Amino acid sequence: ESFCEKLPKIELHAHLNGSLSRNTLRQLGCTDDAILEYQSEQTTIEEVFKLFKVAHKATSTKKNLYLSTKTVIKEFAEDNVIYLELRTTPRKELDMTEEEYIQTVINAIIDKESPNIIVKLLLSLDRRRNHQEQSETLDAIIKFKNMYPDIVRGVDLSGDPAQGTFYRDLFEKARRNGLFCAIHCAEIKNNTEVIDILNFKPERLGHGTFLHPNYTSNAEIWNLYTKLQIPVECCLSSNVICLTSKSHREHHVQEWMKNDLPYCLATDDKGVFNTTLSKEFLHLQESFNLNKKDLWKISDNAINYSFALSEEKEMLHEKLKLWKIQNM
Ligand code: 5GP
Repeated sequence: ESFCEKLPKIELHAHLNGSLSRNTLRQLGCTDDAILEYQSEQTTIEEVFKLFKVAHKATSTKKNLYLSTKTVIKEFAEDNVIYLELRTTPRKELDMTEEEYIQTVINAIIDKESPNIIVKLLLSLDRRRNHQEQSETLDAIIKFKNMYPDIVRGVDLSGDPAQGTFYRDLFEKARRNGLFCAIHCAEIKNNTEVIDILNFKPERLGHGTFLHPNYTSNAEIWNLYTKLQIPVECCLSSNVICLTSKSHREHHVQEWMKNDLPYCLATDDKGVFNTTLSKEFLHLQESFNLNKKDLWKISDNAINYSFALSEEKEMLHEKLKLWKIQNM
């Protein structure tokens, strides 16, 4: 096992239906062709949204959704992820309502087999849905947050960034109801929306690709962003495969490192992008010549940006500290 594999890690940006491994898809009865279609070497951000259909078909029953969630958790635990925030979009299917979808995922989290991983759930609003639909989903999310406050920790906004809208009033409602907000932001150049999202001050941002200082028309955004210091979930392989970053070495994470801005590393869709959190750490290490201490610090910082309970954060810091003494 390499250092990156052994390092206890914190995963804060993982979409359930993008995280299914080949083995899981096979177990769910997917054909080899469907599996090949799902796992892409290179795609575009538009194309990638079509790939999720393979997973959505495979997880369209309660039984398969439960099994997928349990397997994804198990795989993260095997990669020495000690804290996982899994996110997923509630869907209505033939055999489930949106509420049953949420309940099924929660059941799988409660029934997880590994004692070495803490798992939380963020529920996603799909930006392609209209206000009424997103509002109904949010009401269901709030209901489950009240039933399982230690598991349901936040809301996410995701889905094709070229479509749909950020409805601030819905996120204000989520926040009033005690949910943390992690919002996909600046995956494409969309300045007006990026400013709206930044002004809302989400607890975390996803990707942040075009929050870039060299993207000149963006000076206002960069200044606003650096003032706010909102942690960004950086997904290196995802951005390189979707062609929003040219390479790992040219990834915008370098601006975060250079300017000492808060960020964490994440897989985004470990199934679709054929990655693991260890591999993401390795890409960063190799691209920017980082040492073991730097990598350990990235893991430790991520605890602060997580939506864990404060006693859990303390426990996770302790665990990392102990690991450092024993392994570094
Ligand atoms: P699910 O929410 O169904 O468990 O996971 C798949 C969904 O996550 C996709 O349909 C899409 O809405 C969202 N998603 C996955 N990866 C990305 C990404 O890189 N960007 C955005 N905006 N959404 C994503």
